[in-house]
Order: sequence, then C-alpha cells, then structure tokens
Amino acid sequence: MYVSDCLTLNEKGHLAIGGCDTVDIASAFGTPAYVYDENEIIANCRAFSKSVERCYGGNGMVLYASKAFCCKEICRICGREGLGLDVVSGGELFTALSAGFDPRRIYFHGNNKTHAELCQALENGVGRIVVDNIFELRHLSELAARYVKTAEILLRIKPGIDAHTHDFIKTGQIDSKFGFALETGEAMQAVKTALQLENISLAGVHCHIGSQIFDIDPFELAARVMLDFIAAAKAETGFEIRELNLGGGFGIQYLKSDRPTPFEDYMEKVSEVIKSYSGQLGVKTPFVLIEPGRAIVGAAGITLYTVGAVKEIPDVRTYVSVDGGMGDNPRYVLYQSRYEVVCANKAAEKRDFTATVAGKCCESGDLIQEWTHIQPVEPGDILAVLSTGAYNYSMASNYNRICRPPVIMVKDGQPRVVVKRETFEQLTQNDI
Ligand SMILES: *Cc1c(COP(=O)(O)O)cnc(C)c1O
Repeated sequence: MYVSDCLTLNEKGHLAIGGCDTVDIASAFGTPAYVYDENEIIANCRAFSKSVERCYGGNGMVLYASKAFCCKEICRICGREGLGLDVVSGGELFTALSAGFDPRRIYFHGNNKTHAELCQALENGVGRIVVDNIFELRHLSELAARYVKTAEILLRIKPGIDAHTHDFIKTGQIDSKFGFALETGEAMQAVKTALQLENISLAGVHCHIGSQIFDIDPFELAARVMLDFIAAAKAETGFEIRELNLGGGFGIQYLKSDRPTPFEDYMEKVSEVIKSYSGQLGVKTPFVLIEPGRAIVGAAGITLYTVGAVKEIPDVRTYVSVDGGMGDNPRYVLYQSRYEVVCANKAAEKRDFTATVAGKCCESGDLIQEWTHIQPVEPGDILAVLSTGAYNYSMASNYNRICRPPVIMVKDGQPRVVVKRETFEQLTQNDI
C-alpha cells in the first residue's frame, strides 16, 4: 500500500511505522521528527549481506555508505549486522569510532581529505583509504612514513559511465571531481605510482557511478570496465589488484510508481559478469565490495510535521505550511526530488486534495513537494513525508537558526530517541 513495507494503516486509520502509530509518536516527541523503523534497516542490511554471501561465496563485503544517514546508532546497527562502513569525512569517522565501530572495517572516501583527516585515519587504523588523486597519494605516502605505517589503499577510478540519473548525482563520467580518469591514462599512472611509493599498499580499485539507479546495465558495464582495468594493470605491471569496490547507487521507491530493480537481481547479474569475465581475462575473481547508502536507510525513514497555515490562492494553488522545511529536507530544493506525502491522522481518507507543501524558511523555494496529492488537511494535522531516511537528516542545516529535528527509532513497535532535538543553546554554543 505504501512505498515501504514498514508503513501500514492501523485500526485508528492512522499511518503506522514499524507497528507504531505515527500520530502517537508526533505527540510524544513533537514535530518535526525523523522516524525510522529499525527492523526495516536490519532487514535491508541482511538482504545485502546475504546476497553478497550467496553470489560471491563469502568473497565480498557490504559497506554502509554512512553519508546517507550518519549517527552513532546507525553505526552500532551496521556494526552488529557485520557490515563495514564507508565514511567521507573526519566527522563521519569520529562518529563511527565513538560508536565503537571496528576501524578495520572502515573505508575512508573523499575527493579532498584534509591533512588532519588523513592523520586521523592513520592514527585510528582505518581499514582502507580510498585515494582520489595523485596529490593525495603522495601526501598519504609521506604521512604513513611519518606514522611508520603502511596505508592500505584503493584507487578511485572514473569508469566513464553515464548512469541515466540526475546530472547532479552522476559521478562516473570523465567530467567529475571524483577520482582518476581511465581514458587519459591517469588511472594506470596512479597504479604505477602507488606500487612505487613507500608505505603504500595497493589493495584495490573503486568506482561509484551514481545514485538512485534503477537499471542493472550501468552496473554491469562498470564491472566490466573495472575488470578490464585490473587486467590491463596486471599486464603492464605484473601486479594483480585484489579488491573491486563497485560503490553504491541502488535505487529505492520514493513514489508508488517507482519500480526499483530488486537488488537480488542486480547482485546475481553483476556477480555472474564478475566471475565469468575475470576468468576470460585471466585474472582472479576479486574480493567484491558494494556500498549501499540510500537502499539501507531511505525507505526505512519518514519525516513527521505538523500542519500550520493552509493558504488557498484561488486559481493558483494551495500552500500547506509545515513546521520544518528545507532545513530538514533540502532534497526538493536541490534536485526537485519527489516524495509521497500522507496525512498521518487521516491516512484512511482519500488523497484527493492537491497541495504544495511548504516549509517555514524565509525562501520562496523552501518547498517539500509541489502539486502533491494528500488528504484534505487543516491546521494541526500531522503530515508524513515518506522515504526520507536517506540524505535528509544527514543533509540538514540550521538555516534561519531552526533546530534540527530529533531522530526516533522504532523497534518492535517501541519508539526511542537516538538523536535528540537540537536546542537553542546548542545553536548558539559556539557564538562568542
Ligand atoms: C554516495 C556514495 C555511496 C552511496 O550511494 P547511495 O546512492 O546512497 O547508495 C557509495 N559510495 C560512494 C563512494 C558514494 O559517494
């Protein structure tokens, strides 16, 4: 009925998440609030791990891309589920380590890691550093020497693949700030340099072709391109690259009309390509990593708001204003992302009211969704925006000095706070 299995209509006619009434959650914890179903997150973790286990016979690993939603509790959940973690900043790394995450299962990404971040990664013994560029490679080699350590690295490669998604989230093509280009020979040169540098151990290569991808083809193509590169590197240097990290980007359901590919299908097809094609090329089947972010948490989360003013502009449109906005969900403003919106306390009623859901920020563009179909609403109703589990809390800002909402985790019908609501004191704590 809804875009995620964890959402249901309960006997009161309210929207429920993980068996918990969202209207009760709103009254207990206030709005706006992010709410996640922990069992849904766990089920997603297990589905990925199981299919990697099955398709690669243990010769693979799932890393949760923590940028999708990062806080200590999600790190603990992923740790318990045996996943590794992909972090892209000192802050994400710090969060993971504070949650007790095993540093050896952490992969550190980023196109411009700072000196301090590289030191932090080396000091804490992160498993792999995914090197983005030649400057970073040399810098890391010098730093690792100073720490008397060997940095195990992957090289980020731009495989040059157009993944048919929104331009802003297309990262595999040559015109991208991420990684080494294949076509220009830059990537091969990076392999040679990495093999020569002191205190650097080249473990593998990485690519990430984009986000919210529904087709399997671009992933298959990426796998082939990367294997071709591994074979070419072996031919040129005699060194065989052992790890292949294929990144994330698995699409999820935002709208009822979205038809994401079941990742089982993706895993089957891509693993077949990897196994057979590496055989053809005469290289060993690499250890395969995948990095789902959105697909682990996106559909497991929703945002609850309270409706304030309902402003009907005759012959134009009706604005329904909520007590949050672009501060807690900047994705409509950034990418015109689509979402389903449901009136949580009238969830059983027909969605025959066309509205533009607006935030409370001083920006005309501060909209959550335009021309969306919801139940007829009035001030005081609770609105739920669905599938906001990824890139909402993690992208939230304090624009207009609005406090960031809390994160509520529901487990077996019981809600608990895992990130507290920000306070005005916290907003001003760094002000002199
Ligand atoms: C963003 C990102 C991911 C996760 O992408 P999703 O679309 O959320 O699955 C994985 N790996 C890298 C390197 C990324 O930049």
